[in-house]
Amino acid sequence: MAAARVRDHLSLDYLGNLARAGVRPADVDLVVNTHLHVDHVGWNTRLVDGDWVPTFPNATYLMPRPDFLFWDPANNDNLAGGVNENVFADSVAPVRAAGQIQLWEGSHAIDEHLRLEAAPGHTPGSSVLKLDSGGSRALFAGDLIHTPLQVLEAGHNSCFCEDPGIAVATRRRLLSWAADHQALVLPAHLSGPGALEVEHRGDAFAISRWAPFTRL
Ligand SMILES: [Zn+2]
Repeated sequence: MAAARVRDHLSLDYLGNLARAGVRPADVDLVVNTHLHVDHVGWNTRLVDGDWVPTFPNATYLMPRPDFLFWDPANNDNLAGGVNENVFADSVAPVRAAGQIQLWEGSHAIDEHLRLEAAPGHTPGSSVLKLDSGGSRALFAGDLIHTPLQVLEAGHNSCFCEDPGIAVATRRRLLSWAADHQALVLPAHLSGPGALEVEHRGDAFAISRWAPFTRL
């Protein structure tokens, strides 16, 4: 029996939520994929008359080059049956075919306030987005952590981290940066209060404050 494709053909109200926030797909000029796992690229494309097409026809899609290379089945024989099987074909290749992908590596300045930085380990090309504006900082952390427990126990990885040793080193480096700069940390997967601030606690970290909002 063929393995079920993870989260394939979900029917969620993502575009409806965007519309209620006042954003039409045609208005979006930039899409950031922190990495190319299935749950971070799903709305890159949508199915129209049987073909996957970019959801945001006027956007440049920023993707980390190491992930783009790693998850391309032309370069990787180990995707069958895995969490990311078929994801490249459905959610990345159609954007490439449309000429809308800009690859980057190392770091990439979007403007004077927003900068992408490599944060490898979870995947080879995993990245974070740093916001620096008016003296305030935020760290859009992708999958640096999946649970608040990974702030308290930064040596613990998720089962999806490709390189456990590098993932731990990256987590500690970025949590340390967030603590040093009082940056609001916004991981992709926290339920309830979706963002937090961290502080040093000896050689470890602690949660100093939860952001005063909840995610929908
Ligand atoms: Zn991930």
